Amino acid sequence: MPEEELHTSSYWFSFSEEAAARKSKNEMQFALLGLANVLVHIAPLYLMCDPFDIRVVPQVKAIHSQRPTIYFYDRYPGGIGLSERLFEVHDELLKQAKSMITSCTCLSGCPACVGPIEEVGLLGKQQALELILEAERKS
Ligand SMILES: [Zn+2]
Repeated sequence: MPEEELHTSSYWFSFSEEAAARKSKNEMQFALLGLANVLVHIAPLYLMCDPFDIRVVPQVKAIHSQRPTIYFYDRYPGGIGLSERLFEVHDELLKQAKSMITSCTCLSGCPACVGPIEEVGLLGKQQALELILEAERKS
């Protein structure tokens, strides 16, 4: 029988229910998407891989935890260890994400940081930053 799904490895981090409660569903969507867009830029730098090799997928309500979650997937069947390596540098990833957002000179978001405002909304930058602060508070 041919495989129908891509079995690969992944790493994820979730936000607390309190963090979720502080934002509307829409705000959380923008915040997660903004943060995921930043992580897409950053993750390949740590892995020295092609940005295409890793997928970053935000979910407002993850099936396994019911919480806002960001997933990282290897794009290869079985995984090639990329997501494991990201897990190891988790704190560093968030730190870099924060500095990428705060050092970007755009006002509300741009393709070089959280993504264009059409995608993440006018508060996309702020929302993504708030999420990082939530994640840091926890660790
Ligand atoms: Zn920007």
